[in-house]
Order: sequence, then C-alpha cells, then structure tokens
Amino acid sequence: MRLIIVGPPGAGKGTQAESIIEKYQIPHISTGDILRENIKNETHLGKEAKKFMDHGDLVPDHLVVALIQDRLSREDCKNGFLLDGFPRTVAQAVALDAQLKKLGIKLDRVININVDDDLLIERAVGRRVCKTCKATYHVKYNPPKEEGVCDIDGGELIQRDDDTEKTVKNRIKVYHEQTAPLVDYYRAQGLILNIDGSKAIGDVFDQIVKGLA
Ligand code: ADP
Ligand code: ADP
Repeated sequence: MRLIIVGPPGAGKGTQAESIIEKYQIPHISTGDILRENIKNETHLGKEAKKFMDHGDLVPDHLVVALIQDRLSREDCKNGFLLDGFPRTVAQAVALDAQLKKLGIKLDRVININVDDDLLIERAVGRRVCKTCKATYHVKYNPPKEEGVCDIDGGELIQRDDDTEKTVKNRIKVYHEQTAPLVDYYRAQGLILNIDGSKAIGDVFDQIVKGLA
C-alpha cells in the first residue's frame, strides 16, 4: 500500500499514522520527524530547517524533496509506505510524481483528514510527544496513563517548540495557502479519500480502514 496522509496541523495525521502502519505493515515517513531529528543532531539540514520551522513556515521545497528522494529509495519502501507531512506544496507533489514514475510505482490513496480550524489550535497546543519513540499524546483527548511519561517506552513526554498558539496559527494559515491546493491536485488523479477528522481517534481510524478496503 502506497499512501499519503494530508491535513492541517493538529488534524491527527501522526496519530492515525501510528495505527495505519501497524495494520498495513508499511514504514511511516514523516518529514516533520526527520527534520526534528536533524535539528536535534545539529546537521546542516537541521540548521537550515530550524529557521523556518520555528516560525511555522515551510522549509524550502528543494531540501525536503532531496530528503524524500533519499528516503523512498531505501529497501524498506519496496512494498509500500505512508508519507505524513509530505508533499506540502504542489511543487513537492510534482517532484514526487516524477520520482514515482522513475521507480515505476503508483500511489494507491491520499487520505485527507478534514478538521475545522477552531479545533486545531487546542489539539496542537495540548499535544505531547515522547522524546524517544515519538508516540503522540494529548493532555485532554489522549492522555498517557501517568502524566508526562510515555505508555510505550517510559520516555519523557515533551511539547514541540512550534506548538505554541502563535506558531500554530501561522501554520494553519500556511496550510490554507500552500498545502490545501494539493487536495485538488490529487482529486484530479482520483486519489482522494475524505475523512471526518473531528470525530474521536478510534472513529477516525475506522473511517480510514473502511475507505481503504
Ligand atoms: P498532526 O500530525 O496532524 O499534526 P497529531 O496526530 O499529532 O496531528 O494530533 C495532534 C494532537 O491532537 C495530538 O495531541 C493528538 O493526541 C490529538 N488528536 C489526534 N486525533 C485526535 C482526535 N480524533 N480527537 C481528539 N484529539 C486528537
Ligand atoms: P504538523 O502537521 O503538526 O504541522 P509536521 O511535523 O508535519 O507538523 O511539520 C512541522 C514543521 O516541519 C512544518 O511547520 C514545516 O516547517 C516543516 N515541514 C515538515 N514537512 C515539510 C514539508 N514537506 N515541506 C516543508 N516544510 C515541512
């Protein structure tokens, strides 16, 4: 299964990705996670990306396209993948199409998680992420068993630097301006699977599984 999951910041892409990759046994490729790992390791890419991410702006296309080209050419992507957070502009989608064509493969579906803007800020600001395994929680909607501690590996739960109300508002604006046009791009290819992301986490996953069946 070759999938993309798209939606505004805080829509629940990462949360659903955790269940999707388990069910379909495919790697989860999150450009946000890869970029944050680069920032942590102080790589050249990380230093470049941080300037944009801190403000909630998009990292330039050529940097993320190069990163994805490298990642998709690895062995574990042979039988499928779930792209989360990429593509985020039509230019990135065009570059992805060109690479898939070269590899002789096609996308199966683009899962489009719809959530109204007013729910997104509360979701993103209440998000907590495991420092080690990156599992995602929410202080109100998906709390860990013990506050501040990951259920899976006992890692410390932290808040992302860009999950402040001010930055989230800019990320939502950037989504509408630069990422939403992607939905039309993939609709024209007949790939869009629309999902109501305002429902509870389990209900959203049920919609996805039904839609992919
Ligand atoms: P994205 O990857 O789209 O930015 P996340 O999956 O990280 O979004 O979810 C953002 C926050 O909202 C997290 O704290 C997550 O636990 C919470 N969340 C995700 N899906 C739901 C849902 N259906 N209902 C309520 N909260 C949710
Ligand atoms: P969310 O969906 O919650 O906004 P992500 O982890 O996907 O979070 O992205 C966090 C930030 O990383 C974005 O605001 C952007 O700066 C950068 N980023 C991630 N993926 C891309 C991409 N494909 N193109 C450009 N910037 C990206």
